[in-house]
Amino acid sequence: AKVTEHIAASKGETLFSIEIIPPMKGGKIDELMNDISPLMELKPKFVDVTYHREEYLLKTKQDGSTVEVKTRKRPGTVGLCATLMHRFDTEPVPHILCGGFTKDDTEDLLIDLNYLGIKNVMALRGDHAKPFTSFKPKKGGHHYASELITQIKDMNDGKYLHETSEYLNNSDFCIGAAAYPEKHFEAATAEEDFEHLKRKVEAGAEYLVTQMFFDNKKYIDFVEKCKANGIHVPIIPGLKILSTKKQLEILPKIFYLDIPEEFAQAVKSCKDDKEVRQVGIDWCIQQCKELKSYGVPALHFYTMSKSTTTLAVAKEIF
Ligand code: FAD
Repeated sequence: AKVTEHIAASKGETLFSIEIIPPMKGGKIDELMNDISPLMELKPKFVDVTYHREEYLLKTKQDGSTVEVKTRKRPGTVGLCATLMHRFDTEPVPHILCGGFTKDDTEDLLIDLNYLGIKNVMALRGDHAKPFTSFKPKKGGHHYASELITQIKDMNDGKYLHETSEYLNNSDFCIGAAAYPEKHFEAATAEEDFEHLKRKVEAGAEYLVTQMFFDNKKYIDFVEKCKANGIHVPIIPGLKILSTKKQLEILPKIFYLDIPEEFAQAVKSCKDDKEVRQVGIDWCIQQCKELKSYGVPALHFYTMSKSTTTLAVAKEIF
């Protein structure tokens, strides 16, 4: 079923969902399945699987000169989704990116996903590839997630890129998109970012998943602003359990978010990362309890394909 159908069927009960990442190149699917199996026992209603575009690396050749090579460290999104579908009673949600794809590539990918019977997709722009400082679409690809959403919606309506009468079944993907309670870092103002978000919903995004946040007020204020300005699709909070001291510095830099002072102080006063993990778990449990009573449609955990900390939180909440 679609994510939106699961939300409607839950009648206000908060759903449990997770995001996992494919293994590094050459990884084995069984290892990943072992890593996530304790979480799968809690029966997440849907499991997002991230997509990773190619990165450009400079490699030094034997003669000392350098060459730019394209590489994708974590392939396997489609295979992983197909495996999840057949091994577990859950909905896989593959992420699809603008970056690294032409529109034709996207159409082929969507045809594959439809063929597999996948019902949901998360439409994203993707970040800029490594040596660049801003996002550049592939020639013939999309600039923004809203354009990708339009392509998916068109395909749902039977409109393919090239005229043909050969297609057997229309797709009917439920489309998710990303939202940023603390603003996407490239947007000049929160208002501009908000207008772009609106465009994604108007293009056909049926639900939103937020970037991680550690301050529930940011999420709640954002949701209230959405409701007041005509965005009425479900907005699922994305949650990360902070588990190392280093993340106190890294996460705000990568994801442009604030960490509440009280939480930062508690983490700083830990003597090692084992203690940090417990502080991170406790903070997330508090966040989840509050979000649940606020009435969020689901609690969505960024697990990085590891079970321990998410399990500790989810067992307290679900
Ligand atoms: P968009 O919605 O296209 O927005 C990108 C920027 O452009 C924003 O600043 C927006 O305000 C601006 N903008 C939008 N439309 C316009 C316009 N018409 N004119 C001018 N400016 C505009 N990355 C991955 O590589 N793989 C993943 O699997 C992945 N999963 C994610 C899951 C979630 C829930 C989230 C929140 C993020 C994920 N990301 C992933 C990261 C995401 O790709 C980056 O945050 C990316 O920089 C923005 O993607 P977007 O889809 O939000 O882009």
